[in-house]
Parts: sequence; C-alpha cells; structure tokens
Amino acid sequence: MSRARVLVLNSALGPLDYRVPHGMAVEPGSIVVAPLGPRQLLGVVWEPERLPSDAEVGDNRLRNLMGVASVPPLRPALRRLVEWTADYYLAPPAAVVRMALSSTSALEGARVVTEYRATGLVPERLTPQRAQALERIGDRQGLIRELATIADVSDGVIRGLCKIGAIEPVEVDIDSPYPVPDPDHAPPTLADDQQHAAGTLARDVVAKAFRPTLLDGVTGSGKTEVYFEAVAEAIRAGRQVLVLLPEIALTEPFLKRFHDRFGCEPVAWHSGLRSTQRRRAWRAIASGEALVTVGARSALFLPYADLGLIVVDEAHETSFKQGDGVHYHARDVAVMRGKFEECPVILASATPAIETRQQVTLGNYAEVKLPGRYGAAELPAIEAIDLLEHKPDRGRWIAPPLVVALEETLARGEQSLLFLNRRGYAPLTLCRHCGHRFQCPNCTAWMVEHRLTRRLACHHCGHIEPIPRACPECGEEDSLVACGPGVERIADEVSALFPEARVAIVTSDTIWSPAKAAEFVGRMEAGAIDIVVGTQLVTKGYHFPNLTLVGVIDADLGLEGGDLRAAERTFQQIRQVSGRAGRGEKPGRVFIQTHSPGAQVMQALITGDADAFYAAEIEARQDAGAPPFGRYAAIIVSSEDQGCAKDVAQAIGRAAPQVDGMHVYGPAPAPLAMLRGRHRFRLLVHARRALDVQDVIRGWLGALDWPAKVRVAVDVDPYSFL
Ligand code: ADP
Ligand code: ZN
Repeated sequence: MSRARVLVLNSALGPLDYRVPHGMAVEPGSIVVAPLGPRQLLGVVWEPERLPSDAEVGDNRLRNLMGVASVPPLRPALRRLVEWTADYYLAPPAAVVRMALSSTSALEGARVVTEYRATGLVPERLTPQRAQALERIGDRQGLIRELATIADVSDGVIRGLCKIGAIEPVEVDIDSPYPVPDPDHAPPTLADDQQHAAGTLARDVVAKAFRPTLLDGVTGSGKTEVYFEAVAEAIRAGRQVLVLLPEIALTEPFLKRFHDRFGCEPVAWHSGLRSTQRRRAWRAIASGEALVTVGARSALFLPYADLGLIVVDEAHETSFKQGDGVHYHARDVAVMRGKFEECPVILASATPAIETRQQVTLGNYAEVKLPGRYGAAELPAIEAIDLLEHKPDRGRWIAPPLVVALEETLARGEQSLLFLNRRGYAPLTLCRHCGHRFQCPNCTAWMVEHRLTRRLACHHCGHIEPIPRACPECGEEDSLVACGPGVERIADEVSALFPEARVAIVTSDTIWSPAKAAEFVGRMEAGAIDIVVGTQLVTKGYHFPNLTLVGVIDADLGLEGGDLRAAERTFQQIRQVSGRAGRGEKPGRVFIQTHSPGAQVMQALITGDADAFYAAEIEARQDAGAPPFGRYAAIIVSSEDQGCAKDVAQAIGRAAPQVDGMHVYGPAPAPLAMLRGRHRFRLLVHARRALDVQDVIRGWLGALDWPAKVRVAVDVDPYSFL
C-alpha cells in the first residue's frame, strides 16, 4: 500500500490521505503519526471504502506519514465498533477512536529501565560497607537508589560494587507483567439453581458466539459468584474478559472479591489511574497478556487482543450513559462490541432496565434467572411510612416509626443505613430577612450548602463560595436559613437522636477514591459504624451481613421532575438500597418514607411484585411511544450569547424536515436553562422505533450553519432531560 486513508485525532477534520513512504509497513488499524500543517497528529489507518473522504487528493500532492506506533494494529472488531458508535450517536469518528487510544505513552512502544543486581562475585577488597550492601541486597533487584536504601549505604558504594563486577546492570521493561488469575483458586460450592445458571453462561463462553444474556437475580442471589464461573471458563481458554462497573467506587470491593476467588487482582481501568498505570494496562490489554480487566465505561474501547466475554454488572445503572462528548450508553455499546467480537455479553442486574426486559421479550437476549437469595438470607420486608400520618417534628425528617426502628437496631448491636439521594447539608439556602436565594452564577441551579467543608457548592458546574455571614442582598447578619435536608443534615439529626451512635456519611464528597471506599468497607466490617447516611453511592455492590435496617428518607424524591424513567429509576434505586439489608443470617427490615404510599411504584416495592411493575410500566411506555417502543433524541443548542443560541435553535426548528412518524418539540429553554455560563435551548425529537432518526438528523443539521460561538450537541437516547 503506498497510499493510506487516516482517521486523524482531530474531531473537526474528516479522514485524510497520506503517502506511505518506502520501507514503512502499514495496514488498516495501524496507529500512525501524520503531519498536519506544521504539527504532528496521531491517527489510525482505515479501509478507504469504509471511511469516504470528500476531499480526494492526487497522489503527487500527498504528504508522507511520519511513523508507525510499535503496538498491534486496532483489530477489525474494534474498528467496526468505532464506526457503529460514531454512526449511532452522531459523533465524529475521531472522537470515538480517541477513546481507544487512551494512553499516548503506551503507543511509544516498550520502555526499559536499567536495574541492578548482585552477580555473586565477592570483591577482594571487602570493606564493611560493601559487605553490608551485598548481604542486605541478597537477590533483590532495583534502581541504584533503591538498592542503596535497602542496604543503608550511599549510592557511591553501589556504583563502586558495579565497577568491580559484584553488581551488574540489567535492562527491564518498565511495564511489569500482570499475575495470571487462577480459575480454580477458590471456587465456591454453588447451589443447584446457581450451578444451572453458571453452566449456561460458561457454555456460551466455550461456544465463542455472540449471545447477550440477562442475568436476572434479586440482590444477594449470587449473580457475581455465578458470572465468575463464566469468567473462569474464559481464563481457562486463555481469552480476555471485560467486566464493566457503573462506578469507580465499586472497583475496590470488586478487586478484593476477585482476588478471593481467583488468587490475584484483575487489571483495573478507570479515570483515577496514573499515566504509568494506564500505559501498563493498555499495553497488556493490547498484547492479550491482561486476561481480566475491570473498569468504568471507558474500558469498552480498549484494544483487547482476544475478547472472550463481556460482563456489565448492575446493568440497569443510568451512569453507564455518558453525559458529554460522545453520548454513548455503555450497556448498548457493550452489546455491540460483543457482536463484533463474536463473544457472549452478560448483563447482570436485580432490577433490569425496561429496555433490556423488552429485548428478552423479543427474544433478542437470553435470560438466566436466580430466584432467591443465597443461603439463609431472605429478602427484607418493605414497609411504607405515610408521612402525612407520621409527620416528623418541625425541622426533622426521620418519622417516628423509623426512629423506633433505628433505636431497636442499635440496641441489638446491628447496623442501619439511611438513604437520601442528596449531597450536602441543604439543597437551598435563603435569607430569612429579605428572601434572597443563593443561586449559582453560572447555572440555573441553587447553591447547595456543605457544612462539612463550610461552603456553598453548585452540583452542576462545581462553582463554590464560602458561606457568607451576612446576606449579600440585604446585609442582614446571621439571617441565612437552610431549606430541606441533605445527607449531612440527616446525619446531624441522627446524632441528636442517638448521641452514642457512630455515624458515617457516604457520598461522592466523602468517598472520592477507591482507597476511601476500602476504608469505609473496613470500618463497616469491623463494626466501627452504627448508622450510615448515604446517597446512591451506598445503594449497590456492598455486602454487610450485620446491616439489618434500611430507611429511605424521601422515596418521592426521584419522582419529581417526572422524566420518562422516573418511576423505573425510583423502583430500581429503592430495590437496590433495600437489597443492602439482611444479607447475612439476620433478617432485614426496610422502611420507605413517602407522601403517596398508594402510588403504583410504592405498592410494587411493598408487595415485591416486580413483574406487575414492569408490566404496567411497559404498557405505559408503549402507549406513549416512549423507549423502547419509540426513540428520542435531544438537540441542545448552547452559547454564552443567549440571543445567538436562541436564533440558532429557532433556525434548526424551522428547518425540521417533515418525516412520517417523527415529531419535533421545541425549541424551548432547557430545564437547566443556563449551565456553566452557557444559555441552553433544547429540541426534542420523538420518532417511531423503525425510523433511522440518526440519518434524518444528519441530513437536517448537515444542511445548516451556525456561528462558532454556538455549540449544537445531539444526544441520541437521552437519559437526562435537563
Ligand atoms: P449478587 O451479586 O446477586 O448481589 P453476590 O454474588 O454478591 O450476589 O452474593 C451475595 C453473597 O452471598 C456474597 O457474599 C457471596 O459471596 C455469597 N454467596 C453467593 N453464592 C454463594 C455460594 N454458592 N457459596 C458461598 N457464598 C455464596
Ligand atoms: Zn453552577
């Protein structure tokens, strides 16, 4: 090939053609360095027929490629995934392929460092220092500095030993190999129904065929143990596995569990990695050496050499949807990756998404069920507390029956969890004198008081301010009042009720790293915490046998705003958090505080009749033509210049094509009318399922132009309706 089409890592540009200089070998998938003006850009060689270019350049005007990365070319399955993702989510292919090349250091090839070790030769002139050094170093190997530290001598002593041949340099790859998980390290004895489920999933791995399966089992039924058997099967075959988790906070407990089962940790991939860890993981994944990777959604685009299984754990989680950049949903992309790789995909959940249920109904996904909790554990009984009947005192949020339950639980030496999905102390602060409300200067949002850090914070853009002593509007001192509860305020209330109780707050403000999560787990397991007050961060994954009481402070909270998934999300969230109770031998109890105990979703939670809830919800979606029976796409127009954003949004609205089965709503100011200093307008496209709505939008927006200060973002299958 003397001419190559290259997808360069610049989302504003289409594919470009280059000349392949003599002596350079490239093929589709090769990662190359290409000149662009005076700069150099990374890019990936692509099949020209799959990536049409609108600017064909003659052979004589082509510039030479400058180099090829010494890593394996991106495989066809990953290239097809990039194309599909770009197409489906209306994103530039360059923005998608960038997610695959997520460590530039890894592309620079192997990197070696010089380490030193003893040769066994004993020098003739053996000073006491030299003797001490050789004795302490023994058969260890390391940098000069490290050996000097081990031996407690100066660097000079080590260099001297090197000069006379008692110590020698060795070149080592800085990316040390990963340990290989042992599929037979500590397998559990599975119960019959678990055995049956595990057998089915393991057979799919052996079959090496695309097969999505919903692994549906209540919390504590052993879903993890069961899909670990499929993981073991892939390891036995020497094939790679990807396990996707919805949140990096869940990584730490997962690593520990994996270690218990397979004897070593898997490779972790998330945004918290240092660049050397990133590099090491990327290279091991590309070479096939890293057998099991656990990661956040970005792990989906890594260049696995031989993927044999994908698991999406807590597959119903909405955090799998990426909120900016390429708006992909990791669950859907995982299924597509499985399709291109021809491997099974397991979607594990106790509360599957309606979309997933529907795929099972249609026969597109298989289903494996685990009917009950493992062992003696029983699902906890859920009771509603009617807040109209059992009103908490003024300025309090925990209703009397829940206070009694907390008291009983404490007396038994057991642990409780209070759930409220609101960080901080209070969601709104106002001046009691003049009524001034603290609003973010950059967003249409109230500033949230955080007492622990003594700040007001915007949860949308991150803007923070100190809490002022006086009202900035009227100047009145000490006039600010907190309205409504956040977790910090509930924790205060608990401490006032039970001064003896040891209380922990668990939110992304307190558990912001895997190490913090590990510390929290350690304290819970050691019984050093009596009552946890937490946000959705504590609703999943954790397994604390002594936790027997769960209280939901405001079960109605998620129903506010009423987007199409509000009821579903409330059901999932409360089922998940309920699932934290009674996971051991002691039975659990769950109380949900609500103003509408008769609402359908509350009834479904109390009776535990998930099937009835899903049936009703699916029917309602069907009537409304909502997903999965129809599609939505949001077009968000934003600019710092409000008038400009509005004009463009209206122009887009006017240009909307008349298409059968498609309806365009808006433009209207988005519910979050200002975000990070940008004014936002929104159009909502609603279409029947069979319509290629992406194609329509591509043609529609492609024919329009707007000033550079306006940004137009398309969100296909939106989850956030803000
Ligand atoms: P899920 O993922 O469905 O919530 P887990 O896999 O976390 O369930 O299992 C819940 C608890 O029960 C865990 O502590 C797990 O180790 C334990 N468990 C499940 N099945 C078995 C088994 N067959 N043998 C031993 N322990 C099991
Ligand atoms: Zn803000």
